[in-house]
Amino acid sequence: MARVHNWQIGREMSYWYPESRPKKQFAAIFDINKCIACQTCTLACKTTWTSGKGQEYMLWNNVESKPYGFYPLAWDVTLLEALGPQPWSGGPYEGRTLFEAASAGERVLGWRPEDLDYAHPNVGEDDCAGVIDNGADLRVPHMTWFFYLARICNHCTYPACLAACPRGSIYKRPEDGIVLLDQGRCRGYRECVKACPYKKVFYNPMTGTSEKCIACFPKIEMRQQPQCFVNCIGKIRFAGWISTPDKANADNPIDYLVHIRKVALPLFPQFGLEPNVYYIPPVHAPRSFLRQMFGPNVDQAIDTYRAAAQDPDLAGLLSLFGSTAQVVPRWKRQANQIIGSDESGAEILRVPLHEPVQVREAFDSARGVARTNIS
Ligand code: SF4
Ligand code: SF4
Repeated sequence: MARVHNWQIGREMSYWYPESRPKKQFAAIFDINKCIACQTCTLACKTTWTSGKGQEYMLWNNVESKPYGFYPLAWDVTLLEALGPQPWSGGPYEGRTLFEAASAGERVLGWRPEDLDYAHPNVGEDDCAGVIDNGADLRVPHMTWFFYLARICNHCTYPACLAACPRGSIYKRPEDGIVLLDQGRCRGYRECVKACPYKKVFYNPMTGTSEKCIACFPKIEMRQQPQCFVNCIGKIRFAGWISTPDKANADNPIDYLVHIRKVALPLFPQFGLEPNVYYIPPVHAPRSFLRQMFGPNVDQAIDTYRAAAQDPDLAGLLSLFGSTAQVVPRWKRQANQIIGSDESGAEILRVPLHEPVQVREAFDSARGVARTNIS
C-alpha cells in the first residue's frame, strides 16, 4: 500500500497505488435543491449508452429519494453498517477509510449486491421520513422531509474499482481523470462491483464483463457537457475541472464553488476515494443526516447557499448551471452580467444576473387574440 494525500479528509491515507493526479480532473456540481426527480437525466443516459442486451437493469445515472430510496437496494446503509461509526470532529478525518478498514487479503472494504437488489430503482420514491400528524403537512417548516439524490460515477481520484481489479482493467485517463474500464482485459470477476462504494460499476451477464459511466468522454473531448447534464430539466448540473485546494483558481467555476465558497461537498468523503461529483446539500433536511452523507462542512455550505440571494457573485455563477451545452472552464461577473468563457478567454455565453420580467397583456392587439392562460 502507498501513502497518498486526500484533501477531502485532510490527511494522508493508504491506497493501493502511489499518488498520480491527472493533468486535469473532470468534476461536476449538482445542486440538490433544484432536482425535481423527473429522471430525464436517467433516460438521457439510458438511451445513449445502455440500451443493449445485458444492460437492461443498468442505470449509470440514477436519481433516488433519500432517505428511503436506493439503487441498488441499501447501497449506502449496507456499507455504513459494515464500516461502523467513525469519528470526524471537523479537522482531519479521524476514522478509517474503506481502504484502511479492509480485512486481510482484501484491497477495499466492500460488498456485492444480489441481482434482485437492482430490480426496483425507484423504491422509496417520494417517501417522507417521519410521521405526518393530522394537519401537520400544512405547517411550516415542514415536519417531514425527503430529497432527491442524482448519482453518476464520481470519477474518483482514488477509485476503489481500480484498486480492486486484479486484471488491471480499470484505468484513470491522465488527460482528464475520467475512469474507464477496458472490456478487452476484463474477465468479469466483479471485484470492481464489490469495491465501488457508490455501486457505479455494473456486470453485463451477456458479455461476461463489467461496464461503467464514461462521463460521455467523446463529448468532453469536444468540450461539450455529458448527456445527463445537458438534458437536465432542473438545471441542477455543471461540468468542469477541479484543482487541488492549493491550486484553486477563483475564475474556475468548480474551484470557486468547491474550494473558495465551499458550497458544494463530496458524497461520503469519509470513504476515502476523493469523489469528484460535488453536491450543494438540500437546505431542509436534518443536519445530522447530511453530515453523515457530505461530511462536517454541511452547515457552512448551507449557510452560504442560503445567503446567495444577497451575493451577486455566487447567485450569478449558479445561474450558469444549465445555460449552455458547452463546458465552461472560466467565468467572471461584469456588473449585472455573468460571462462564461473557454480556457483562452473567448466568450461562450453571457447571462443576466436578474432575468427581465415580461408582462403580457391579456389581449394581444398585434395578433388580435385574447390570452386565456394569464389572470
Ligand atoms: S464511483 Fe465507483 S466506479 Fe466510479 S470511479 Fe469511483 S469507485 Fe470507480
Ligand atoms: S434531469 Fe435534472 S432535475 Fe430531472 S431528475 Fe435528473 S438531475 Fe433531477
